[in-house]
Amino acid sequence: MTRRAAGAGTDTPLMQQYREIKSRHTDAVLFFRMGDFYEMFFDDARLAARELGLTLTARNNGGAADVPLAGVPVKAAADYVRRLVARGHRVAICEQVEDPRLAKGVVRREVIETVTPGAVLADDLLEGTGNNFLVAAMPGDPVGLAALDISTGDFVIETAPAADLPAALARYAPREIVVPSDAAARLALPPGAVVTAREDGEFDAALGTAELTRRFGLAHLGGLDITEAERPALAAASALLHYVRDLQPGGLPQLARPVVRRAGATMLLDEMTRRNLELVESLRPGDRETTLLEVIDRTVTPMGTRLLRQWLLAPLRDLAAIGARHDAVQVLTDDARGRDRLRDALDGVRDLERLAGRAANRRASPRDLGALRDSLQRLPDVSSALGGLSGRDRSAALEDVAQGFDLLADLAERLGGALVPRPPAVLGEGETIRPGVDGALDKQRDLRDGGKEFIAGLQARERERTGIGSLKVGYNRVFGYYLEVSKANRRSIPPDYERRQTLTGAERYVTPELKEYEARVLGAEEQALVRERELFEALCDAVRERLARVQRVARDLAALDVFASFAEAAARERYVRPTMTDEPVLDLRGSRHPVVERRLPRGTFIPNDVRLDEGQRVILLTGPNMAGKSTVLRQIGLAVVLAQCGAFVPADAATLGLVDRVFTRVGASDNLGLGHSTFMVEMSETSAILSAATGRSLVLLDEIGRGTATYDGVAIAWAVTEHLHDRVGCATVFATHYHELTQLTEELAHARNFNVAVQESGNTIAFLYRLEPGGADRSYGIHVGQLAGLPGPVVRRATEILAMLEAGHHVAGRLPPPAPDARQLTLFEPAHAVLQELQALDTDRLTPLEALTRLAALKRRAEES
Ligand code: ADP
Ligand code: MG
Repeated sequence: MTRRAAGAGTDTPLMQQYREIKSRHTDAVLFFRMGDFYEMFFDDARLAARELGLTLTARNNGGAADVPLAGVPVKAAADYVRRLVARGHRVAICEQVEDPRLAKGVVRREVIETVTPGAVLADDLLEGTGNNFLVAAMPGDPVGLAALDISTGDFVIETAPAADLPAALARYAPREIVVPSDAAARLALPPGAVVTAREDGEFDAALGTAELTRRFGLAHLGGLDITEAERPALAAASALLHYVRDLQPGGLPQLARPVVRRAGATMLLDEMTRRNLELVESLRPGDRETTLLEVIDRTVTPMGTRLLRQWLLAPLRDLAAIGARHDAVQVLTDDARGRDRLRDALDGVRDLERLAGRAANRRASPRDLGALRDSLQRLPDVSSALGGLSGRDRSAALEDVAQGFDLLADLAERLGGALVPRPPAVLGEGETIRPGVDGALDKQRDLRDGGKEFIAGLQARERERTGIGSLKVGYNRVFGYYLEVSKANRRSIPPDYERRQTLTGAERYVTPELKEYEARVLGAEEQALVRERELFEALCDAVRERLARVQRVARDLAALDVFASFAEAAARERYVRPTMTDEPVLDLRGSRHPVVERRLPRGTFIPNDVRLDEGQRVILLTGPNMAGKSTVLRQIGLAVVLAQCGAFVPADAATLGLVDRVFTRVGASDNLGLGHSTFMVEMSETSAILSAATGRSLVLLDEIGRGTATYDGVAIAWAVTEHLHDRVGCATVFATHYHELTQLTEELAHARNFNVAVQESGNTIAFLYRLEPGGADRSYGIHVGQLAGLPGPVVRRATEILAMLEAGHHVAGRLPPPAPDARQLTLFEPAHAVLQELQALDTDRLTPLEALTRLAALKRRAEES
């Protein structure tokens, strides 16, 4: 590989070309293709040197100022792009778009793609388990959202109340958000996403309508199920598509028809709820198996994994839609063998959406097309596994997929017939197209091979002609084919040998004949590559023509994969199908926490029954720290989310009334994982729930009010619960270690006390993890402190103080002073240990000698302290 010169000074045609292109990509790092390198100049070079650790060089050309320069080899570029994009930069890839050998003057160059965090096609920049959404937001009330994953073609538009913007955005976990430039500062945008400001004029519903009807060949948007109410989303879609056109000037063949997400069709889970329930991300990052997703994910395809995540973050709110998913899971749960067959068939299917998307953009590698072919060849197995499922007719969803199953046989055949069994990662590095597919290609390959054969035979012939037994024919990239003769034999060479290269011990020559054959070989090789590229691109185009079908199949497979995953989890972890109802009821028998259960040894998690209904809308859940309150609280939320996603739930039996939203809040000091949470945040989140919850919501409050003094905390908790009970009327579970709150149920008709039982024996307690009616009468904080190792005297003293406080006394001055021994013992910890040892001595059984030795040892230890 030779590194081509970066050209002349700032005035050369090359630099003029560079400046012209750069002026249209000022916000991106410009990767400027020069031969085998991408070069960066000026500030881009400095930035790359800083961010990527590249060596910054400078070129000085004819007196002009130095041009800072940094470059990366084309072959390694993907990794550099990935690192820059991961740090939030954009990278514009500028390629040579004509053959340098045919170019008159400077080679034509164009930016063929701009890679940004939200707009990524290359596989090594993508995470397999989730979508990579780029989202445009049109501010206002309602707000419009348009989300696109350019790697899969997933395209969603949504109109949502302004108050729900953070929750709606969070569902996409966008890597990049496009907003009008005047609104960038005003919108509450999630941290972690790159914000891209675009011209306000690009956010135009009429333009969006025109673009969508044109793209999908429709007379009007009714065909896409888009109505007037979606105007803000159309404005967002218009800006999004405009932006993506700038990033991908080659077009976006993979864009799928937009899915319209209607407010009310799915449940919005705000960020706190999502996090506190640890649906897809853990509160303690790095911990294994701490999220619901990790515990229930049994998918075997990347499409299935992505869909499962989407479903978990958007539980349904329609009984029929939920029932349809449950029916499919039921069939797959009942037929274990059929499920195994289906999952085995799905297992070899690779990322159809992304592979086909890259092919359609002619960005696929031969290996990608090979993977696509292999995946398509699994489809008949999937189809027959589906056909063989017993009881399939009990699920309309499975029937639909089975009836409309597209085997894509034409494409599978086309790829199967054309590609070699294991195509190379890079076109030209090994053969991609099978022999016998194309006459012209075969002819060039024959020419090439014939030439190579001739050259191979040359060694024997030339040895004979020259009498030099050690003469060798060789090849290198710079000098081509040569005849190598050791220096000792130099004198015997014939006159038609022309010297090419001198090595330490040998000389390398060419002959006119060798040159002729070399030209023939290289020419044929090049022609073969040109032809192979044409054929390969034709295969890519064949994928492009069928892209909508491939995407449909991918979606069907994803759904099958998720259904089978739900069924697999249900069978392995003993989940049941919940009975769904419109009634306001939540009845869980033998309910477990799916994640905590998995962390404990099998069978040791204690199941619990929970019931909420009209008569018992509010549960006040008391019990000491570590009793299991938070666990019960979350398992109620998780059961509802799982059920409304279409999954079965970890319980022996479940009847669940449809819920419009689930809210979960955790009091400030309990919110360890988040670190930044303060009492203020806790309160503002609580007030957000009070205004957003409806009579059909499920509100789970964990130690709210804990972030302040006891009386304040109890007072706030009291008032919040009262409000939820009297005004909102939603199902509420309030977990608290403030046993004072249990009095509240005397006032609230629909509130009940429950506690997580502990067993008290003497001074200590044991956790039973059993939910019982009635309130805890004490907080057991001191017992828990003792279990945690507080010294005995501190525990005794705390007990005295508590008694005073509970009797309503002012403590200071009224309390008898601590016993002298207690004071000393708390000060001198080791002496305490000595005393314990004394207590443990069985004096009746000691021999006098033992007694003396022990006494001496104890004295020594007491002195040391
Ligand atoms: P609290 O909120 O009352 O302080 P947690 O819900 O955080 O208590 O539970 C503390 C620990 O107790 C959990 O981490 C878990 O290990 C254990 N635990 C909770 N519930 C159960 C249960 N039902 N069965 C077995 N262990 C449980
Ligand atoms: Mg707790």
